[in-house]
Amino acid sequence: MSEKPLDPVRLRVAPSPTGDPHVGTAYMSLFDLAFARQQGGSFVLRIEDTDRARLQHDSERQIFDTLHWLGLTWDEGPDIGGRYAPYRQSERLATYQPYVDRLLAEGKAYHCWCSAERLTAMREHQQKLKQPTGYDRMCLGKTQEERAALPGYTEHAVVRMQIPDDVDTHFDDLIMGHIDAPRPDDQVILKADGFPTYHLAVVVDDHEMGITHVVRGQEWISSTPKHLLLYTWLGLTPPKFAHMPLLRDEKKAKISKRKSPWARLTWFRERGYLPEALVNFLALQGYPPILEADGTEREVFTFEEFSRGFDWHKVNPAGSIFNLDKLNWLNGIYIRALAGDELASRLLPYLEAAEVLSGSPSLGELGRLQALAPLVQTRIEVLSDAVLLIAPFYVGDDQLEISEQARATLDPGAPAVLDAALRALGDLDDHGSGSGLLGTDSPWNAGAVEAALRSALVDGLGLKPRVAFGAVRVAISGAKVSPPLFESIEILGKTSTLARLRALRDSL
Ligand code: GLU
Repeated sequence: MSEKPLDPVRLRVAPSPTGDPHVGTAYMSLFDLAFARQQGGSFVLRIEDTDRARLQHDSERQIFDTLHWLGLTWDEGPDIGGRYAPYRQSERLATYQPYVDRLLAEGKAYHCWCSAERLTAMREHQQKLKQPTGYDRMCLGKTQEERAALPGYTEHAVVRMQIPDDVDTHFDDLIMGHIDAPRPDDQVILKADGFPTYHLAVVVDDHEMGITHVVRGQEWISSTPKHLLLYTWLGLTPPKFAHMPLLRDEKKAKISKRKSPWARLTWFRERGYLPEALVNFLALQGYPPILEADGTEREVFTFEEFSRGFDWHKVNPAGSIFNLDKLNWLNGIYIRALAGDELASRLLPYLEAAEVLSGSPSLGELGRLQALAPLVQTRIEVLSDAVLLIAPFYVGDDQLEISEQARATLDPGAPAVLDAALRALGDLDDHGSGSGLLGTDSPWNAGAVEAALRSALVDGLGLKPRVAFGAVRVAISGAKVSPPLFESIEILGKTSTLARLRALRDSL
């Protein structure tokens, strides 16, 4: 059996499973994947779970689920394995230790026994004196016994890098160009619990996994000199770096899960953004619209188009503001581009979650949904908006609730309107209707319903259409807004329509 040839490029996303996945994980994955696919390379998912205190058990599964939902699928990862397995850092502890031992033996790193209390007091003291904060090297050059004789000692040592005075803080970035980052402190690389810190693990794993391009947020720029120093010390070739513009809110602050619900990836799915719309939107956060041959710009594009023309030089280092109105606009465009049946199947999980439909809907219920989907298509921004519009079609006629706001729109003429509507529709033949589907050749159809109601209410009672049809809408949907009225009545069928008109009439 021949070995798989080496990938031309290998990229990875390395989320930490510390809660609901951050939208930044999808953003990084998207840019990783666009480049990996364009180059015929691989995209790796690595779980960085060395921070045991912040670990949340459900988080890893949510990372898998949300990235799958977005179609940002990986070639190697903890769930599917791969030639560099394992892909969870907690399962790779034995990999890191030899690197630490080597750095200690070569005098590049040293043990530090300072207690947390001492480090806090040291930092506070430095801040008070307005000095740069950083480890004061109390432990450097001391044996454990020598150190134990001094205050602020703990038995559990960490290992720190000994950053040389002339550390090189310059590096080239694919997006930002030449960077001069701040001078690093004596970074901890191995914690007292025996786990490596991010800084050591990321370098070791990116090397061991053959990563060629590290794509991550600009918040990591200040860490890069430490990482480059580790590569140099260990005699390894560093990958290329692409530090991505941060996702920022309207106040230009980095979006955080604490402040913005939309920092959580699950939020987009719960609200009913289409994955392809969110992918398009995330691409636009760091990338310009597609330039057409005629010079016009196009903001709506697919992942494949994005990937095909992808170029690191085009990534905007300043990024753009995370504008939900823009996402809503894009989502609307994607929703309206769906075929009716496709929209119906995308709506189904939202209706099930809201218990409008059960987990195993009947054929009749599904048929009704297929008829309703095109009717709500232009009226929703996110899929969950459809729940309120569609719910009235799945409740029993005697269960329909009339909302307070809807009832408030009824004027004193409403009883007469409802009486006239009852008569007009009562006279309409419904032979052959009842499939719940639009477009049957039954006399009970939207056109006939409209003609009957217009003649009875607008011509007969001399009412303005808004007033006349408003009361009928409230009766059949319980709400002020509904899918188009005459189609709704066709879908509901004669028996339900009359029962609902009668129920509202009787309650007035
Ligand atoms: N675990 C880091 C994070 O969640 C990864 C940073 C990197 O990509 O190097 O942000």
